Formats: sequence, structure tokens, C-alpha cells
Amino acid sequence: MFPLKYEGDVFRPPSEARSLILQATVGCSHNRCTFCAMYKRKKYRERELDEIMEEIALTSRLMPRTRRVFLADGNALAMKTEKLLRILQQLEKSFPALERVSLYGNPQDMLQKSTAELRDFKQNKLGIIYLGIESGSAAVLEAVNKGVTPREIAAGAARAKEAGVPLSITVINGLAGADGSAGHARDTARLLNEIDPEYLGLLSLMAVPGTTLHRRIRKGLFSPPGPWDLLKEIQMIVSDLRLTDCVFRANHASNYLPLKTVLSREQEKLLADLNRIIEQKAPGSLKSEYLRGL
Ligand code: SF4
Repeated sequence: MFPLKYEGDVFRPPSEARSLILQATVGCSHNRCTFCAMYKRKKYRERELDEIMEEIALTSRLMPRTRRVFLADGNALAMKTEKLLRILQQLEKSFPALERVSLYGNPQDMLQKSTAELRDFKQNKLGIIYLGIESGSAAVLEAVNKGVTPREIAAGAARAKEAGVPLSITVINGLAGADGSAGHARDTARLLNEIDPEYLGLLSLMAVPGTTLHRRIRKGLFSPPGPWDLLKEIQMIVSDLRLTDCVFRANHASNYLPLKTVLSREQEKLLADLNRIIEQKAPGSLKSEYLRGL
């Protein structure tokens, strides 16, 4: 039987499928985005340090060769700095093969931490922050109640860059609806160029029952783009991107066409393929081409 008792549903990025998942916090400290139902049943709190330390001791006995740890829930980066550092230090002591610890952060959390604090985390094996920015458009961020502006997102991301902590950024295609797609794409690419992340993931908007967004769609107040419009939005974003060295993925279960590539090597090819597919409206064999291992 699995030794850890998670509180409620626990989510992790697809790339953390092989990681040990430790629940350091419960829920999301923001929990107000209109499209998100992930933590609606949870009230945000930090778990007691003693409980977390016990779980580290237990899992280090059962899985001593653990190389990667993901700290759940929605934004473990919101934890108090001292407590998060204690956890990172204990993980390093307990798992001799530990290579990297990762967690979700909200843009607000990045602004709560100084560059020096983020650097301390990095020195204690924090190897990646998964950051959902959703859009680079001020209007879209406000409409979905993200609680931050593009300027604040850029400022927080810049601290991670200065501290040397790689960022995996998530954007949601379709978040501006059918009418706002072009503006969402343009502003998002602009913000991404400013952040210059190491990893970028594009998801497609999913209307989850129980969310404000779902109610708006049912009332006819919001029209999500169709699959081909979502693909055009991806095409617009990709064509505007100027990133240094970024692994690009749009291969989440929500994506109609799975894409995965390294932009610095294959941005032109990706764009040519997207153009061809959109023109012909036929996915062809692109799936296998971009899903090969990196
Ligand atoms: S999208 Fe992220 S920040 Fe917004 S409510 Fe969901 S988990 Fe929290």
C-alpha cells in the first residue's frame, strides 16, 4: 500500500510522472481563477513541518534511490521561506541520489520571494518552478481573475532568472475566446519573449463544470474557439516567439494536435508544418514527428 496519505486530489505536471510527490501545502493560495476547478474543494494551508519531515523519513527508507521530488499542491512556492528551505535541506540529506526538486508557483509567489531567497532554494536543489501565466494580455488576466498583471508576471519571472532557477511556463490557448484570440496570442508571445523561459507548455482551454467560465459558456457569454482556431492561435504565438533555448510542448491531453520540439532548432519547421496543416486542415503524420524523444 502507498505510504503517503494525500489530502484530496493531487495534481502534478506530466513531466513529473516519475517523481516522488510530497504534499507540502494543500490547495492553492489564490484559488480564484474563473477557469480552474483543481483546488476548489480545498482551503489553502501549509502542512505542518513535522508531518512533512515524517513523510520524508518514511519515503527515504522505502524509496532511497529517489532522484526527483515534486512538492504539491497548487503552489508550494507560497510556503514561508524558512520552512521551504528546511524541507529542501532535509530532502537532500535523506535522498543521496536526489537531482532535483520542483514545485508549482503562482506569479504572486515569485513576487513574495527575493532573488536571494530563490537563489537559496536553487542551492538546495530546487531545479524547476512550474509557473502558470495563462496569458500575456492584461485584459485576459483580469477577465479570468488571475490576480496579477503581465508586468507583475515579468517581474517575478525575472527574479527566477536572476537566481538561475529554470522556469516551465504554461499558457492556455483559447482563454480569450474566439474574438480575443489574436490579441491573446500577440500579448502572450510578447510576454514570453520577455521572460525567455527554458520550457513552455501550451494547453487548450477546457470548460470544467462548476467553474465560472463553464457557467459563462452555458449562458452564451463566452465562446471558446474551435479546434482549428486553437491551432491558429498556437501558430500566431509560435511565429512571434524569439526565445533563446526553449523546449516547447503542446502535447497535453487537452491539445488537439500533440506538438513537442526545441524551438531554437526547429521553430521554422514547426511553423511550416503548422501552416501546412492549417491550410490543408489535415494533421497527417505530424504527431509522430514532433513526439519523438528529446
Ligand atoms: S489556475 Fe493556478 S492560480 Fe489559478 S486557481 Fe488554479 S491553481 Fe490557483
